[in-house]
Amino acid sequence: MSVLEIRDLHVTVETDEGTTPILNGVTLTIRTGETHAIMGPNGSGKSTLAYTIAGHPKYTVTSGSIAFDGEDVLAMTVDERARAGVFLAMQYPVEIPGVTVTNFLRTAKTAIDGEAPSIRTWTKDVKEAMKHLRMDGKFAQRNVNEGFSGGEKKRHEILQLELLKPKIAVLDETDSGLDVDALKIVSEGVNRAKAQTNLGVLLITHYTRILRYIHPDFVHVMVKGRIVEEGGPELADRLENEGYDRFLEGELEPA
Ligand code: ADP
Ligand code: MG
Ligand code: MG
Repeated sequence: MSVLEIRDLHVTVETDEGTTPILNGVTLTIRTGETHAIMGPNGSGKSTLAYTIAGHPKYTVTSGSIAFDGEDVLAMTVDERARAGVFLAMQYPVEIPGVTVTNFLRTAKTAIDGEAPSIRTWTKDVKEAMKHLRMDGKFAQRNVNEGFSGGEKKRHEILQLELLKPKIAVLDETDSGLDVDALKIVSEGVNRAKAQTNLGVLLITHYTRILRYIHPDFVHVMVKGRIVEEGGPELADRLENEGYDRFLEGELEPA
């Protein structure tokens, strides 16, 4: 079992107005095999948490800690985080001219495993994973993110998940821009990884829709850079009915 432990995390970002605090003490523990949903209104700091776990240079941790199996994640490079088994879908968001999906994935796999998979095995594994995601075989020969639609970007993320086999995956708004069919396929991919490799999932979402397909064990509500409420799946149902209004009225003290 592996465990990602986030303790009293405070994060700031540099803006034109100076240094702005975004996360104001976030504590969260994610174990392999568990699915955690982080929900919250727009601007509450959900993506900031994801970027901070990913090691995005724009975000500064001013106090608190992130540890993976006891190792200090904040001291690791982005590559070291991936090698340790922490997967972040937004790690490679850019177009990579001249690099095909299949070569990109093989390079990533080699970096994580420390040795290159044989071409024959790799081609077979990529084909198989793409079949699961109902992706056209031609997709493997396209350049990474070049002209990808929203749905193709999401499927490419899940393709990485299937092939790179991380221990913990952070999925930020994986549901956004997907129609119901694509949402089902993407969710099946996540659920397959959960079943096959005991993946731990941190699923960040504004809407409850994806939680009908990927069932959370724990739900955390983030408002203004803090977790203000935690519960089981029933909390997501409550948010579906009530929205976030009661967290935004201000009478509630942060947990
Ligand atoms: P969420 O994902 O919950 O919608 P974000 O983490 O994207 O929230 O943003 C939280 C707050 O931090 C917002 O007010 C946003 O404007 C601000 N913020 C986040 N990232 C940056 C950035 N790179 N530069 C400036 N402001 C940022
Ligand atoms: Mg947002
Ligand atoms: Mg966001």
